[in-house]
Amino acid sequence: MAALCCKHKLKLFHTLRAQLLHRNISGKFDYDLVVIGGGSGGLACSKESAQLGQNVAVLDYVEPSVRGTKWGLGGTCVNVGCIPKKLMHQAALLGTAVKDARKYGWKIPEPVSHDWATMAQAVQNHVKSLNWGHRVQLQDKKVKYLNMKGSLVDQHTIRGLNAKGKETTVTAKNIVIATGGRPKYPTHVPGALELGTSSDDLFWLKESPGKTLVVGASYVGLECAGFLTGIGLDATVMVRSIALRGFDQQMSQLVTDYMEAYGTRFSWGCVPNKVEKLPSGLLQVTWMNTLTKQEHQDTFNTVLWAVGRAPETKTLNLKQVGVQLSGDTGKVIVAADERTSVPNIYAFGDVAQGRPELTPTAIKAGKLLARRLAGQSSQLMNYDNVPTTVFTPLEYGCVGLSEEEAEKRYGKDKIEVYHAFYKPLEFTVAERDASQCYIKVVCERDGAQKVLGLHFTGPNAGEVTQGFALGFQCGFTYAELRDTVGIHPTCAEELTKINITKRSGLDATVTGC
Ligand code: FAD
Ligand code: NAP
Repeated sequence: MAALCCKHKLKLFHTLRAQLLHRNISGKFDYDLVVIGGGSGGLACSKESAQLGQNVAVLDYVEPSVRGTKWGLGGTCVNVGCIPKKLMHQAALLGTAVKDARKYGWKIPEPVSHDWATMAQAVQNHVKSLNWGHRVQLQDKKVKYLNMKGSLVDQHTIRGLNAKGKETTVTAKNIVIATGGRPKYPTHVPGALELGTSSDDLFWLKESPGKTLVVGASYVGLECAGFLTGIGLDATVMVRSIALRGFDQQMSQLVTDYMEAYGTRFSWGCVPNKVEKLPSGLLQVTWMNTLTKQEHQDTFNTVLWAVGRAPETKTLNLKQVGVQLSGDTGKVIVAADERTSVPNIYAFGDVAQGRPELTPTAIKAGKLLARRLAGQSSQLMNYDNVPTTVFTPLEYGCVGLSEEEAEKRYGKDKIEVYHAFYKPLEFTVAERDASQCYIKVVCERDGAQKVLGLHFTGPNAGEVTQGFALGFQCGFTYAELRDTVGIHPTCAEELTKINITKRSGLDATVTGC
């Protein structure tokens, strides 16, 4: 017992000593705010805070991927997420455009081929320019950048460790955790970790991934399989249950139907059992079809795990300083104002429980938090009605509730679903099949018919959905949507003309202007 007391006393002494060492004599801290994580959210928060006159430092450190891939400042979105993904999606769209171009009179000699190395190099150069831009911005805005891996010593003290193992300790009045997440691996599948690839590597490959098996059928899986198909690679998506869980399932079906017609293969109801490397260097995957109960095998050049992401909380020492984590997800439990169970420690973005894993929400939440911490505002982040787009070969944008969720919350009889199958003008001359170009507006059935959900598959779905998200934010009604004057000839105008209800059973195909 006495020994235990001594141990505690010693620990207390070291903690107090560390705290005192890093606070000046007036009891102040080194910084008003220290942000751990220089991704979308952390950078936005630290820059906003510094602009409001706070003394701020941001720690960012990239632990190499399982395959050893490393990258610079800016987090997931810039380096291994939105940016390289959208650029590779663009590369794939250009492939389709080349095919369309012939119908529009362009003489393009056959065969047209795609070179991975050229694309990857160009994308990586752009990403590196963004890394540099972020460093310059931090300097310009007087945010101290520490290229260190951070962990908490106590509720005001952060230990940073650089790549050479040098330790630095800083103190802060407030601490923000914005450490994001990393791809998960199904560790129960033999060979998954040793032989697999993740989205942390794909965009940085110097050579083409070749024939690829993508395991997982949500945003990452479908987007990656989509652009791989689009640049001419053999890509298969292995789906264990449904595609795009949480999204409107009719829209999800349209997205995967289009992909199948586009050339992406799908293995529905399948789960991988093992991955082995053959003497040829090919990866042999054995999987189970849970519907037929049969085992299958095929060989691939690359197996891409897109089975979700795990929060970066393990090495932060959060529990020890009293920050509560979710037992299920390992994410940080936060209140509406992003506060954790420790009053001066906040968390937001992908690392926080219950938040959308999207860049714009992380950025907005970070800026609002900075303003509140600087005493400039009391505005909280509104996580409702966040618009999003899945950048699959046929893009899918949405905001608000899926039809299923609206039915669940309001009852089938209390909602009205307006819908339309339309043909984008650009598809006509190109003779492209538009069977999956579809719009759905889910509304309350009674009264002013408030819009509850808006869904769009078609070209530039993100651009289309962004504008309507403003209407959503303003609580627009079906009548207001119909009163909106369209812009002709666009795909977005079809939303302002939508007038067939699902309930009527009438043909929803748009036939003229
Ligand atoms: P991150 O951006 O992940 O930043 C966290 C940073 O903290 C990282 O730099 C990390 O290295 C660092 N870090 C971690 N631990 C420590 C530590 N202990 N010390 C110091 N630093 C640490 N979202 C969209 O809105 N649109 C898209 O099109 C889109 N596409 C995506 C495509 C892919 C393939 C993926 C994987 C994600 C995509 N996302 C997209 C999601 C988006 O990238 C994330 O939601 C966003 O980056 C989250 O930002 P964050 O600040 O929470 O974390
Ligand atoms: P996710 O949404 O969690 O989806 C994981 C997928 O993997 C699901 O299809 C899941 O199937 C499947 N899966 C999980 N474990 C599996 C296993 N052991 N074997 C086989 N399949 C398995 O993860 P994500 O696609 O990686 O996306 C992560 C987050 O990044 C998203 O929530 C999103 O917010 C963000 N993101 C956004 C964009 C964008 O804005 N365009 C793009 C990419 C990523 P079940 O459905 O059966 O569980």
